[in-house]
Amino acid sequence: MKNPEIRLLSKPCILFSGRGEINEEPACRSELVERRVECTESVHEDSDLSGIARRAKPECIFDEPREQKTRFPKKSIDYLIVGQGLAGTVLALTLDRLGLPYRIAADLTQPPASAIAAGLLNPITGKRLAKAPLMEAYLEAATAFYPLQEEILGASFFRKRSFLRLLKSKEEAALLQKRLLDPAFQPYMSHVYQPYHFEHLQDEWGSFALDSVYTLDVPVFLEKAKAYFEAKQVYIPKALKHPLALEDGVLHWEGESFQAIVFCEGYGALANPLFSWLPFRPAKGEILTLDLLQGLPDTVVNKEKWIVPTSPTRIKLGATYSWDDLSSQPSVAAKGELLSSLKDILHVASFPLLLKHEAAVRPCTEDALPFLGQHPQYRSCFIFNGFGSRGSLLAPFYAESLVQHLRHQKPLAPPVNIVRYLNRYERA
Ligand SMILES: Cc1cc2nc3c(=O)[nH]c(=O)nc-3n(C[C@H](O)[C@H](O)[C@H](O)COP(=O)(O)OP(=O)(O)OC[C@H]3O[C@@H](n4cnc5c(N)ncnc54)[C@H](O)[C@@H]3O)c2cc1C
Repeated sequence: MKNPEIRLLSKPCILFSGRGEINEEPACRSELVERRVECTESVHEDSDLSGIARRAKPECIFDEPREQKTRFPKKSIDYLIVGQGLAGTVLALTLDRLGLPYRIAADLTQPPASAIAAGLLNPITGKRLAKAPLMEAYLEAATAFYPLQEEILGASFFRKRSFLRLLKSKEEAALLQKRLLDPAFQPYMSHVYQPYHFEHLQDEWGSFALDSVYTLDVPVFLEKAKAYFEAKQVYIPKALKHPLALEDGVLHWEGESFQAIVFCEGYGALANPLFSWLPFRPAKGEILTLDLLQGLPDTVVNKEKWIVPTSPTRIKLGATYSWDDLSSQPSVAAKGELLSSLKDILHVASFPLLLKHEAAVRPCTEDALPFLGQHPQYRSCFIFNGFGSRGSLLAPFYAESLVQHLRHQKPLAPPVNIVRYLNRYERA
C-alpha cells in the first residue's frame, strides 16, 4: 500500500487507551495488533501479515517510553469523529453518554445519505425473508439507545410501527410457511392474512404482519443531535481534509489535538486515502414523498418497495438501488420505477401529488457487512462505516462495540473487523 496522503510529523503509530493516555505496555490488544506483535518477534513468512509487520516494525512504538506521556497537550481531546451522518452521530452520542471527550466534524457541503433515509428498522427482509443472526442484539441496542436519546435531546423521533409484508408470489408464500415453523422467526411473526384480505392493498398472494418494526425519523434525530453538539461546543462544521498532520499518531487540527480519529464518512470514505482500499460497493438510492390525496392506515407496507406513512395522506415511497450512477441527482428512471411500484402495493384512487424526490448514495460493502476497526498502519485512525441500507438498525449496537474496543481493547467481532481485508491492504 502506498503511503496515503498523511503528513507525518514524526512516527506514525501511538498506543491509544482512551482518556488521552499513552499506555506503557502493548495496549492495542485488538486481534490485528496482537498478530502484529507476534509477527515483529518472529516473522511468519507464510503469513499475510508478515509483510506489514516487517515494514511497520521500525515505525511502531509498542514500548513508548514513559516520559512520552508528557508530550501531549493537557487539553487534548480523545476522539475526533469525522462525519455527522447516522454513524458519526450515534457514535458521538455513545461517547457522550460515557462522559468521554470528543469532537465531531461535519462536512456541510456533502449532505449525508442519512438525511433521506426512511429510517426503517425491520427484522425480516428481502426476497429470502432473511433475518440477521444478531438481530435480537441489534434490536435490543437500538430500542435502548433511541428512546434514551429522545429524552436527552428532548424530541420524539423513534416509534414502533405496525408493519405488513405483502407476498409477491407462490414461492414467497411457500417460504413464509417454512419461516412460520422456524423458532428463530416465530417471535417476529405476528399474523398471517389470506389473499385479498385488505381492500386498499394488492395482496393477491396474502400477507403477514411483523412485530418489532420501528422507524427512526432520521432528519429530526440528526438535527436535534447537531443542536446538542453545538450547545456543548463539540461540533466543528468543517471537513477534515487530507493530508492529515499526525505527530506520533496524534492529529493536530483546528487548534486541538486528537488521540484517535474515527472516520464515519459514509460514501465519502472512497475519497479517504486511508481507507479507500476497503471494498465498498456504494449504491445510489432514491425516495419519493407523496401526498396520496386519500386516507391510509398508519401501517408500513412492504412489497419489494415500501411505503412509510408520515401523516394520514402522506407517504414516503422507496427505495431504488443503482450501482452505476453514483450521483446524488434524482433520476427520471427511478421516479418511474417507484411510481409504478406504488401500483403494485396499493389500489391508488387518483394520481398522487409528488412533494419531494431525493437521492443519495448508501455506503454498502461487498460482503454486506459493516467496516469497523483500526487502520493497519496508522494506528490512531479508525473506521466506523459500511452500514449500507441498515444504518438505523446497526449503528447503536456497533457503536457500543467500537467504543469498548477503543477504551478497553475488547476485540471486535471478526465478521465486521476490517482485519478481514488485510490481504487487500497489502496488495493495494
Ligand atoms: C433512499 C435511501 C433510503 C434509505 N432507507 C433506510 C432505512 O429505511 N433504514 C435504514 O436503516 N437505512 C436506510 N438507508 C441507509 C442509510 O441512509 C445509511 O445506512 C446511513 O445513512 C449511513 O450513515 P453514515 O453516517 O455511514 O453515512 P452518511 O449518512 O452518508 O454520513 C456521512 C457524513 O460524513 C460526512 N463526511 C464525509 N467526509 C467527511 C470529512 N472528511 N470531514 C467531515 N465530514 C465528512 C458527509 O458529508 C456526510 O454528512 C437509506 C438510504 C437511502 C439512500
